[in-house]
Amino acid sequence: MARKPVKKQLKPLLILDLDETLIHASSTLLRPDFDFQVFHYYVYKRPGLDHFLRACAERFELAIWSSASDDYVAEVVQHIMPPDIPLAFVWGRSRCTLMVAPQIDDFGYYNTDYPSHYEYAKKLRKVRTRGFDLQQVLIVDDTPHKVRNCYGNAIYPTPYLGQLDDEELPILLKYLETLATNENLRSIEKRQWQQRITTSPE
Ligand SMILES: [Mg+2]
Repeated sequence: MARKPVKKQLKPLLILDLDETLIHASSTLLRPDFDFQVFHYYVYKRPGLDHFLRACAERFELAIWSSASDDYVAEVVQHIMPPDIPLAFVWGRSRCTLMVAPQIDDFGYYNTDYPSHYEYAKKLRKVRTRGFDLQQVLIVDDTPHKVRNCYGNAIYPTPYLGQLDDEELPILLKYLETLATNENLRSIEKRQWQQRITTSPE
């Protein structure tokens, strides 16, 4: 089958994960100041989330892709996304691919004795099929396993577990702003991206 022609993108596409990247949802009450409830979860927005989304929308086309259930994803997006910010897509588990997880032991080493399991992964092929040029796509996910097929496009933030003093989003925004105008976002080394920002002069 002929590949769909790549559409002309006005802005690069920024695909954002939800849980532990933009929000933390807990079935137990961590603090009384949760932001909203979805099903039986208390949801805490990552500090600076509203500003982060608005600022990102100026430079990127935004999309949401989570491996949580589709109805949960739709509910959370209703709560966190300003209605005037258009989204290229909102994808949940049904758009993920069930894959064998790598056998990584508790020390971070590949170990064939370690039990393997299946997990939902995100394959950027599905985004390319939508007509996006993968040189103009970034995907932010706190779980490297889930985006291991997206090497080159992926940025890994530290997981957000509901703490009030979390400062990841302002740093991530600063980093994304340094990337936004590059012609090939895949060719940029993104490991240790936090250090690149926190140690670079203003
Ligand atoms: Mg996550």
